[in-house]
Amino acid sequence: MLYKMRGILVLLALVAAASSMENFSGQQVLRIFPTDEDQVNLVRALEDLEHLQIDFWTSPSRVLLPIDIRVPFRNLQSVKVYLESNNIQYSIMIHDIQSLLNEEQNDMRRNRATENTRSTDSFNYAAYHTFDEINAFIDNLVRENPNLVSKIQIGSSYEGRPLNVLKFSTGPNRPAFWIDTGIHSREWVTQASGVWFAKKIVTDYGKDASLTNTLNKIDILLEIVTNPDGFVYTHTSNRMWRKTRSPNSGSRCIGTDPNRNWDAGFGGPGSSSNACTETYRGRAAHSEPEVKAIVDFVKSHGNIKGFVSIHSYSQMLLFPYGYTSARAPNHDELNAVSRDAVNALASLYGTAYTYGSIITTIYQASGGTIDWTYDQGIKHSYTFELRDTGRYGFALPANQIIPTAEETWLALTKLIEHTRDNPY
Ligand SMILES: [Zn+2]
Repeated sequence: MLYKMRGILVLLALVAAASSMENFSGQQVLRIFPTDEDQVNLVRALEDLEHLQIDFWTSPSRVLLPIDIRVPFRNLQSVKVYLESNNIQYSIMIHDIQSLLNEEQNDMRRNRATENTRSTDSFNYAAYHTFDEINAFIDNLVRENPNLVSKIQIGSSYEGRPLNVLKFSTGPNRPAFWIDTGIHSREWVTQASGVWFAKKIVTDYGKDASLTNTLNKIDILLEIVTNPDGFVYTHTSNRMWRKTRSPNSGSRCIGTDPNRNWDAGFGGPGSSSNACTETYRGRAAHSEPEVKAIVDFVKSHGNIKGFVSIHSYSQMLLFPYGYTSARAPNHDELNAVSRDAVNALASLYGTAYTYGSIITTIYQASGGTIDWTYDQGIKHSYTFELRDTGRYGFALPANQIIPTAEETWLALTKLIEHTRDNPY
């Protein structure tokens, strides 16, 4: 009897552990194809119907890009009826998001059972990892390459986690090129690519002529987990979490969009004042410690010449501006370098990217990272949207991590080389 009860208790504990993670069973991702601005506005109106709990994976856009939305099972019928009654075309892109996430969990469990994380040589770059595992990787990399890599803590997150930046440097007082990944926590292929880039840099230095030349002239700075609270939350509670985890006074909704929180057109169109939306800008510019830490670091460094902020998904390479339709003064240069970079990227696996300024290529977005860095004088400022174009969206299978990182590195190399050779 006692034995049986213990069995039931163990079972209950297992059920409790499993249910602490938000379940997305039956949830679908719909791809909507608006044909005019009226239809875009009809889709945008869904965002304000909070009871529908729709998660916009891509935002409504004047340039009529498809809009991807994740819809809870119980609201699927009403959303489909709404679209159909307004003659808005859509397709079902993901039939059951939870089944993709189950596979992702199984992959991680399998990997954890076999992976040796004591050195960066035995680390499995084709697997997704937790915040603690990535921090262990960072410490291993620094320990293994003390003359090339150091770790700088530029601040702490809202919940008190370290904001770690890897510095790759071969001499003092150099100009620097900044790369960040994972500012939106659910974009897991970005943090995983950041880990791969870090290993690539230490592997190629002294062997690859271009990278060696680069690191003999400029430093590379890499923040892999730029939104650690959100990232931990995607592992423990809700895989689809995008924002920070700071509370909002007067609202039950948590978090600010750290890519709408910068002092560049802050509060303008393409950001929300509603704390319950995914593009909530925050109560003030730089209110988020994760953003403020980078702001302070960039200002105190004073010699960052290139800046790349990496997101997923959509396969795009973008440059300023997002908050205004004004052309960046060196628009033609940014455009030409972007073309070179996406051509280099495509040369490996044929992955097709679009490129251009944020506002003309996707949509108006205010308070974004690279508009702020650009206005600080960092004339080589770019943002990536990595794989894919929506087949898996944020649930990109782990077997695409290495190919994504490899091809992205070819594009990054173009941006870094151009910055190295034109460090104004
Ligand atoms: Zn993003």
